[in-house]
Amino acid sequence: MAIAAVAVTLAPAPALAQAPAKEVDCTEVKCVALTFDDGPGKYAGTLLDTLKKYDAKATFFLEGQYVKTRPAYVKRMAKEGHELGNHSYKHPDFTKLTAPAIRAEIQKTNDEIKKAAGVEPKLLRPPYGLGDIQTSEVAAEFGMPIVLWTGGSRDWETKNEAAIKKQTLAVAKGNSIVLMHDWVKQTVDAMPAIIQTLQKNGYHLVKVSDIIKHEDLQPGDAFPVPEGWDK
Ligand SMILES: [Zn+2]
Repeated sequence: MAIAAVAVTLAPAPALAQAPAKEVDCTEVKCVALTFDDGPGKYAGTLLDTLKKYDAKATFFLEGQYVKTRPAYVKRMAKEGHELGNHSYKHPDFTKLTAPAIRAEIQKTNDEIKKAAGVEPKLLRPPYGLGDIQTSEVAAEFGMPIVLWTGGSRDWETKNEAAIKKQTLAVAKGNSIVLMHDWVKQTVDAMPAIIQTLQKNGYHLVKVSDIIKHEDLQPGDAFPVPEGWDK
């Protein structure tokens, strides 16, 4: 009987069509959350292939207008274990909108994401990372905390593969939330090298929720706490 038990133990695990989500505790291991704004961008498919290849998770703060035109990418993001957040419908500056207009931007985007992927976003990232008390109040109505970033890749500015890699690795430290864009081709091109380096340095690439879950954020709270919102 003992031999049989050993044989069972040594039998290879059956290949799963989709790997189960691994529990990563970011208080125990080094984590980085790569976040991609304004998408799904036209290079999202290539980015998803790369993330899958390296078993990395990411968070996508999506624009409703592109969810509507590229729903297949959004469906794939959810299916492959990435996190979907709300980044407004058409990217207006929320500090210049009325509360009903902000509400409509958030609701329309939630509706498109739900339609495309069957999931409802739990997190909001306002366009340009700009907000104020009114933004927080509307986010709270939706039950959403606001997630900003701890460091930016500056990819939209440099549009240079080497510069994006250098800047991303410079800001990717323990429990960092890094801002990137999947409409920047050079970002998507740089991603295999960025992921390989981070993983070689012991980082787990996780969803932003894995990092903020230890922050006890309430709906309407912003993290990291932005300067100049409380006025
Ligand atoms: Zn944006």
